Amino acid sequence: MRSGIYDSAWREKLPPICPGCGYNLTGIESTRCPECGRAVLWSELRTNARTLYHALRQVEDVNDVIDVGMYLGSAALIMILGCYAVNWGVGLSRVVGCLLAIATLGSGLQVLRVRRFPEWAAEQLPQQPNYTKAACLVCFALVAIALAIFLPSR
Ligand SMILES: [Zn+2]
Repeated sequence: MRSGIYDSAWREKLPPICPGCGYNLTGIESTRCPECGRAVLWSELRTNARTLYHALRQVEDVNDVIDVGMYLGSAALIMILGCYAVNWGVGLSRVVGCLLAIATLGSGLQVLRVRRFPEWAAEQLPQQPNYTKAACLVCFALVAIALAIFLPSR
């Protein structure tokens, strides 16, 4: 087993990153980070690369779910208000719209499932969970549900 940082057996999907400063240690044959001088362990880098990879996937997934939620919420609102405006199928559209809005609410709340990342991982993530968008989505869903329930009958 090689003692250096670089190892040809590196098979992680992400490069070895210095936990101290975030420097990419690919191809470096030293037990210290050339950037910050921190001693780095091969096993630590491997664990970090895996943790980061999973964090990355999780963030991508949750942001996709939030995007889908935006469509669901729009569909809910169009259905509830559209049918109300033309006074056609109002009862049914409210039920379906309400269900869509609940699905919207659920997708907005998915962001809560993203675990807190260690600081070094959070700094490496190219995109963060979209908390702002998720919060908007939750409000959006609540408005749609409220409309479905409280819109006066005509
Ligand atoms: Zn470093």
